[in-house]
Amino acid sequence: MIEAYEAFHRRIGNMAERAARDLRPKKQPQYRERHDLTKFSDLNLAPKVLKAIEDAGYESPTPIQAGAIPPALEGRDVLGIAQTGTGKTASFVLPMITLLSRGRARARMPRSLVLCPTRELAAQVAENFDTYTKYMKLTKALLIGGVSFKEQDILIDKGVDVLIATPGRLLDHFERGKLILSDVKVMVVDEADRMLDMGFIPDIERIFGLTPFTRQTLFFSATMAPEIERITNTFLSAPARIEVARQATSGENIEQHVVMFKASRRDRAASEKRHLLRTLIDLEGEKLDNAIVFCNRKTDVDIVSQSLKKYGYDAAPIHGDLEQSQRNATLDGFRNGKLKILVASDVAARGLDVPSVTHVFNFDVPSHAEDYVHRIGRTGRAGRDGKTIMLCEPRDEKNFADVERLIGKEIPRLDNPLGTVAEAESTTSHHAPVEVKSEDKPKRTRSRSSRSRKSDKPETAVEATEAKASESQTQEAPEAREEATVAAKTVEAKPESRARERAPREPREQREQRTSQAASDSKSSENRDRNSSSRSRGRRDDDKKVVGLGDHLPSFIALSFDERSAS
Ligand code: AMP
Repeated sequence: MIEAYEAFHRRIGNMAERAARDLRPKKQPQYRERHDLTKFSDLNLAPKVLKAIEDAGYESPTPIQAGAIPPALEGRDVLGIAQTGTGKTASFVLPMITLLSRGRARARMPRSLVLCPTRELAAQVAENFDTYTKYMKLTKALLIGGVSFKEQDILIDKGVDVLIATPGRLLDHFERGKLILSDVKVMVVDEADRMLDMGFIPDIERIFGLTPFTRQTLFFSATMAPEIERITNTFLSAPARIEVARQATSGENIEQHVVMFKASRRDRAASEKRHLLRTLIDLEGEKLDNAIVFCNRKTDVDIVSQSLKKYGYDAAPIHGDLEQSQRNATLDGFRNGKLKILVASDVAARGLDVPSVTHVFNFDVPSHAEDYVHRIGRTGRAGRDGKTIMLCEPRDEKNFADVERLIGKEIPRLDNPLGTVAEAESTTSHHAPVEVKSEDKPKRTRSRSSRSRKSDKPETAVEATEAKASESQTQEAPEAREEATVAAKTVEAKPESRARERAPREPREQREQRTSQAASDSKSSENRDRNSSSRSRGRRDDDKKVVGLGDHLPSFIALSFDERSAS
């Protein structure tokens, strides 16, 4: 029934979309001239909206607001090329609520729809709605994972003016027959480029097909990849195109640095890198109020966060595999200044509005250059100064070159504060971390042999399992044990997520939180597997070599004279 309805609707919708496209005026009016409007009161927003804006303390519209609000209020489609931090959320929320201030929603038929790539972003948009509708009687529902369907159904049943959702959760509700999208008058797609990265474009296309072709579309993306261009050509009708300067590339107030880092040994790379991160944090001293540390992989988010905590830093992780309640608590803590260091994955942190982050550390060079721009855009917001430091390993050099190409400038190199690799090792052995709490403080006075045991500590989740197996035989240094536990925990989570991947009907919300990192995670676990097998190959080769006696005990030494004489 639903499929038949959908197929029919899609056919009609596609015909209408095509017809609308053909009727499009060849020359599209430009709204750039209206950027010079300097007052919200010039924008024709509802008086109650203006009052809420005044309460929020905004003095004048940002360029994306000045550009997008007038055409949106005229009922036109808008294509906003702007990233987070430019005020783009208000640029669609303010006209939407002005347009919706008249009329009422019917049961299960929302009057408007906002699609966001992640739960956090959706929740943030919902907060914006609350701020700007404080003097209005508009209802909203937030459809994201981690919230029970039942609660969401109750709201939808009552009828909502604004539905804010991640694409998967929205389609889940639709497929359960709980939602009718034929009354949607305004549809917003936020962070379309991130939707593309996360593999949601087919879902978005499907949702477009479920809404009336007469709807108004407000479409936002930080970049215009060819696939995004295609979608906008298909589904937007004569949009007003507003492009605002990219915050990060133009952001002169962000001091950017990179430290080229090479580990003394491949199997020490991870721990030496974490040591370097701690040193860089320490060196910032008082200047560092709060920081976000970005890692490419969720496993590393956990490991880095645990390791920082162990060394006495106030750190907590955020990534898509964590419980929603934990993610919310962590974010709240970070926003209200209780938490100092947020260790984050790209997906979880994308679009988050944390107004005053003094520092961003890139523990890894992001594999998509575009993510660098988003990451560093967390700092230096609203005209404040910000500082960002990235760690670049030799294997990251290609990605690093992509980043420099994208931002169109060279990122100044910082000397490794730990000096050469050899110095780094000696520093590791003799200096306690500045902020270590006594009970967490890892033992720094290790004997030579215990230091060499440290080098055996597991650096990756894969190695951690091996380490766990041999735990009873090897007496590890406390620090190594700590790292092993962290890594092992992440390993335990893995089979479950693999099982989810194989499940025939996986809840989409989980997919949403996972998709964008799945590729990099699997790639990295491939690499880890490759690295670990090459490491074990290396170990076997070492075993064959006999250079002096050292730790090596050639087998003939172990034979007794009796046995030799017997053979
Ligand atoms: P966004 O790009 O939507 O993530 O917004 C970034 C931040 O800018 C949010 O904290 C908004 O509250 C704030 N903001 C939005 N519009 C304005 C404005 N016109 N003046 C000052 N701050 C604003």
